Amino acid sequence: MQGLIFDIEEFAVYDGPGIRTAVFFKGCPLRCNWCHNPEGLLPRPQRVVSSLCMHCGKCREVCPTPGHCTACGRCAQVCPRNCIRIAGKYWTSDELAAKLLANAPLLKMNGGGITFSGGECSLQSDFILEVRPKLGDLHCAIETCGHTDPSQFCHLITAMDLVLFDIKHTDPVIHKQYTGMDNHLIRQNLNTLIASGIPFIARIPVIPGVNDTEENLTETAHWLAGAFNLIMVELLPYNKAAGAKYQSVGMTYAPIFDEAKEPRLLTEPFALYNIPVKIL
Ligand code: SF4
Ligand code: SF4
Ligand code: SF4
Repeated sequence: MQGLIFDIEEFAVYDGPGIRTAVFFKGCPLRCNWCHNPEGLLPRPQRVVSSLCMHCGKCREVCPTPGHCTACGRCAQVCPRNCIRIAGKYWTSDELAAKLLANAPLLKMNGGGITFSGGECSLQSDFILEVRPKLGDLHCAIETCGHTDPSQFCHLITAMDLVLFDIKHTDPVIHKQYTGMDNHLIRQNLNTLIASGIPFIARIPVIPGVNDTEENLTETAHWLAGAFNLIMVELLPYNKAAGAKYQSVGMTYAPIFDEAKEPRLLTEPFALYNIPVKIL
């Protein structure tokens, strides 16, 4: 089995406890209007061209399929500015495990481990489940948007020490407006996670004017109330550099919210339910 990965970040400190290696799997079922990883959306390798391009045309001369990129990588070899790369590489489970285990002593010493992220890592849950036993007692987490097949989700979380579960909005109509999908599956999987007893952190990307209302955050707290396995809520303020990479993958960043506004980082709705909150 092979997994399609677009990045591996070592010494990550925002993707779970301690110092971690974060593995970013390619492909996501959502299209969040604020997504800052556009190269992680498609479930196949793709060409990324940096802003250093001087439009010399050398890449076009060697392309075997002009107008239909197959991510063969030939153009990257001739670019004089070295500004082309292919996002998305296939790894076997042995290759990935060997890479991740190389830093295992350091990760363990710092209370960290591995976080499988994305994109949406659960789309490749069979591969992760093949890698997981090869990592021994290394602490393993997933970060998920929760929009995934319920039975696959159930299998995947059972193999994890921790789940970072994103909650974007409690209203299904607004959720669909900003992410392309409603949140029914997400709510179902959240309830499965709560019932599983597996420790989890609920993560909320706080987007100005979208989900930072008292009403929405109170309802989010209501969803989480009483979950004894909930460690905390993490509020992630909107990343103003979210649009930086869109041009490099031939996309246009088009937020339909006012990104100039500051997100409201309300903690009171969670305090009402005695849920600890951390602002990242
Ligand atoms: S070869 Fe490199 S610098 Fe030249 S046009 Fe292609 S991407 Fe741009
Ligand atoms: S990676 Fe470059 S050379 Fe290969 S198909 Fe795409 S544009 Fe053409
Ligand atoms: S779930 Fe994450 S990776 Fe997927 S579109 Fe939303 S922000 Fe991007």
